[in-house]
Amino acid sequence: MPEHNNSTLSFSQNVNYLVDRAIAAIDLDSDTASAIKACASIIQVKFPVKIREKIEIFTGWRAVHSTHRLPAKGGIRYAPYVNQDEVEALAALMSYKCALMDIPFGGSKGALLIDPLKYSRDDMQRITRRFTMELARKGFLSPATNVPAPDIGTGQREMAWMADTYKHLYPEDINYQACVTGKPINHGGIHGRTEATGRGVQYAIREFFRHPHDVQNSGLTPGIGGKKIVVQGFGNVGYHASRLLSEEDDAKIIAVIKSEGVIIDENGLDIAALHNHILEHKTMKGFPNATFHADGLKALELECDILIPAAVESVITGKNAGDIKARVIVEAANGPLTFEADKILQEKGVLIIPDIYANAGGVTVSYFEWVRNLSHIRFGRMQRRHEELHSHQFGELLEELTGKKISPADRNKIIRGANEEDLVNSGLDDTMRNGYQQITEAMCNNPKITDMRTAAYAIAIDKISRSYLDLGIY
Ligand code: NAD
Repeated sequence: MPEHNNSTLSFSQNVNYLVDRAIAAIDLDSDTASAIKACASIIQVKFPVKIREKIEIFTGWRAVHSTHRLPAKGGIRYAPYVNQDEVEALAALMSYKCALMDIPFGGSKGALLIDPLKYSRDDMQRITRRFTMELARKGFLSPATNVPAPDIGTGQREMAWMADTYKHLYPEDINYQACVTGKPINHGGIHGRTEATGRGVQYAIREFFRHPHDVQNSGLTPGIGGKKIVVQGFGNVGYHASRLLSEEDDAKIIAVIKSEGVIIDENGLDIAALHNHILEHKTMKGFPNATFHADGLKALELECDILIPAAVESVITGKNAGDIKARVIVEAANGPLTFEADKILQEKGVLIIPDIYANAGGVTVSYFEWVRNLSHIRFGRMQRRHEELHSHQFGELLEELTGKKISPADRNKIIRGANEEDLVNSGLDDTMRNGYQQITEAMCNNPKITDMRTAAYAIAIDKISRSYLDLGIY
């Protein structure tokens, strides 16, 4: 079990307990339930790479939890603590997440047991390319069946290496770029993917504040502006969520927790400045006008309105759940609460916006990237100028009919055609709003469902079971 996992249950046991609660709420028969919970396939690969004149053996996994929709989709994690149980749990979460959000993918996840900080860029490239060959040759990587994305310890760089390796293995696959998502823009990536998970977290919080009943139940006052937020994790997800919530919604990020500790400023941290400080000094320590403490775990218990765990799984357990002060927890990470913690916090009346909804922004925009790669054209390329011309003509007509001039600033606002990032963010916003609304409806329609997580799982399991039954899989 990874050292940060303070739970007595393994990660996949925690997920299955949460799933069982939803299965009970929708009275699903036990055979269908067992079929849905089972992990369809998993491979473990061991492969040698020569590092500084020495052969090292690396271990990696790729799990496919469900194939009722293809390709199966899910990130690849590089970390020194990963194991098979964790990969299976994360693959299951991907199945439920995609089903809930109407993303037409099955669930998958991969991991490589490695500490990326111990290797040079060249080493990482050779290791990643070799890992990619193992996955592709064994049928666990292809645009049609299994499409990885970034996760902890991986990013655009690794995705570009994976896509390039796949292209060299299968040069006749015209859709090779769609074999992974989260690529750099000039290698088939899509605008808005890097920040998509963080932006999805922001959109989820905005949608929560559009539901006055939920806001009132949580004990918070209306509006994001001025809300005190604690964020754990300052990587891809935590950084972008903090930046967007503070810059665009005026929320106060009062603490950022990383492995080395926590940095606190009750007046709200300047997130962009903190990010630059970390890039320059490789630590949060010494960040001006803020206090640093080495005990990051304790900082989860800080007085705040919203807590956003955006680092790793099982950080809130039976041991510390009772001391959490936040009224709302938004699970940006996968599985940050154990089953036991979830029960304790529900009893305390804390509103939990669950991972399979809250962090679905990443896979949503990955879906857009995959579609873009298959269609071989950037979103908006055909219609942008046409829309602009149309809006321009409409403006002229309006001026003619009213006899009034539209100011140049207003004209620019009206006639600007949507670029790819506008369209991606619009699709993401729509998906996050729909997800929240489905959850709310499920809670209204089923008296056995009293929390958002059970609702989210119930919706996902119902959709997957219907798909299995329609296909007559067993
Ligand atoms: P990342 O590697 O970019 O960042 C991880 C961050 O967590 C780092 O700041 C690290 O210092 C911090 N961290 C690690 N262990 C910690 C600990 N024990 N205590 C405190 N901080 C710790 O990873 P990421 O891509 O931002 O992913 C974070 C979480 O979000 C993971 O659970 C991942 O599965 C989930 N997620 C990521 C994406 C995505 O698009 N990247 C999508 C959906 C879900």
